[in-house]
Amino acid sequence: MGKFDRFCQSCGMPLEKDEGKGGTNQDGTKSSLYCSLCYRDGAFTGSFTSSREMVKFVKGKLKEMGMGPLKRWFYTSHIPRLERWQKK
Ligand SMILES: [Zn+2]
Repeated sequence: MGKFDRFCQSCGMPLEKDEGKGGTNQDGTKSSLYCSLCYRDGAFTGSFTSSREMVKFVKGKLKEMGMGPLKRWFYTSHIPRLERWQKK
């Protein structure tokens, strides 16, 4: 883990922006991979099965936040390469 990996490996949010300061593992320790919105008590929240679903979801959130199409693309383009979506 380098400092360039400090994004949630599920939704791509910078972990420093995570109000919950990271997801939680089953034993209650903090996850260094996932944010508090994606990962809770050792399990993923939500029912996303593919990076495409996650991209769609995050783009919807960014739109609610008032971001234009270019920014929405920018903040979601790396999601398919995140660790969660590398596994089959
Ligand atoms: Zn996340």
